[in-house]
Amino acid sequence: MKQIVVAGAGYGGLRAVEKLSKRSDIHITLIDENRYHYMQTEVYGYIAGTKDIDEITIDLESWCEGFGHNVSFEMAKITHIDHEHNRLSTDKGEIAYDTLMIATGAHTRFPTFIEGLRQHAFGVKKLERAFEFRHRFEQCVKQKLEGDNTPIDILVAGAGLSGVEVAAEMAYMLERYRHALGKNVERIRITLIDACDTILPGLDPFLIQSAQKRLQKLGVMVKTGAFIEKVEADRVTFRNGTTQSYTFMIFTGGIAANSGFVPEIFERNQFDQLKVEDDLRLVGADNIYAIGDVAEIVDKRGEPLPPTAQVAEKSAEHAAENIFRQLDGGPTAPFHGEIDGLFIALGGRYGAAELFFLRFKGMSAYYAKRLVTYIYTLGLNLRVNAAYKTRH
Ligand SMILES: Cc1cc2nc3c(=O)[nH]c(=O)nc-3n(C[C@H](O)[C@H](O)[C@H](O)COP(=O)(O)OP(=O)(O)OC[C@H]3O[C@@H](n4cnc5c(N)ncnc54)[C@H](O)[C@@H]3O)c2cc1C
Repeated sequence: MKQIVVAGAGYGGLRAVEKLSKRSDIHITLIDENRYHYMQTEVYGYIAGTKDIDEITIDLESWCEGFGHNVSFEMAKITHIDHEHNRLSTDKGEIAYDTLMIATGAHTRFPTFIEGLRQHAFGVKKLERAFEFRHRFEQCVKQKLEGDNTPIDILVAGAGLSGVEVAAEMAYMLERYRHALGKNVERIRITLIDACDTILPGLDPFLIQSAQKRLQKLGVMVKTGAFIEKVEADRVTFRNGTTQSYTFMIFTGGIAANSGFVPEIFERNQFDQLKVEDDLRLVGADNIYAIGDVAEIVDKRGEPLPPTAQVAEKSAEHAAENIFRQLDGGPTAPFHGEIDGLFIALGGRYGAAELFFLRFKGMSAYYAKRLVTYIYTLGLNLRVNAAYKTRH
């Protein structure tokens, strides 16, 4: 029986396993360094306290058990690929494969040219960092509840999708806490900073304007064209020499791929994303695919697609189909990925959306995003329930 290994249990990895499991003549091993699947797209709610841990994580062992016999889970950190002998090294030992799909995503990239950034800022790409950040936010609220009236400044550096969502949700929660904290709530201030001249750089003007208006309404201070040069324990210094004090800071300004375990001979771009052929196989490899954030994936015109859960899932599905084609002795097919739309959560029951030719905002956009998340988590939960039923 052919052994297919899926490395990384994020959005792409799970979609790949779903698709691959349709065939009974292969065995699929899913590997992840964590025992849970972490839904990063929902982390804005977790940080602000509107979502709980069970709404952003899924137990991978149970999820894999839900497929029956041809899917298994290994919790291990991958450290190296021996592509000549089709073996992975992990902190728990070696794992052999016939075909490998690399889906290990990305981590927050703290640019080294910003002095002190890594030391002082939180990222949200890992659950433990989001957990610490949530804890800090809760502590601020508690401090204010107890009557402390020193100002607290929360900086969100990076006004892309994740930065905007996190800033908006925290600001919305502060609005809700007004009844509990009174005027003291105004002593917790949120500032969203970006080096670009706009928030949500590269996105549709409708989304940018909707987000700007909403952030303003929620009292978030937005500083664009502000390049952070240095971060110290209690203040940041901008390139123009001005400074801003802060209490704690989150950095959502960029990512780098988790590709350190892939041999150097495989090409990558400046974000460490692996270069792939149009069929999503690594350049120069016959039986190794790379999908999602870890790969540089381009659209029909050759333009890089943004690192999103949507692209991770679509590329995973396509790579799984190509694995089937190879198993059947046929040629692989090129991937023509596109973004169908984008939903942005903008605090509380408010959002903005772009879906094919439609643009809308407000509660409808929020519920549209919720529906997508609901369908996604329902699928995962049904699989876990299937495992519980067979156990008991
Ligand atoms: C706050 C925030 C909001 C976002 N909002 C949206 C949104 O609204 N819509 C959208 O489409 N996208 C959104 N994104 C982006 C989206 O989350 C990512 O693009 C998506 O998670 C990429 O999926 P992936 O499968 O490639 O990798 P990931 O989901 O990052 O999964 C990678 C997996 O690989 C594992 N792994 C890594 N290295 C190793 C190793 N060496 N050994 C073993 N396991 C390893 C990790 O533990 C992880 O489980 C958001 C991201 C953030 C941070």
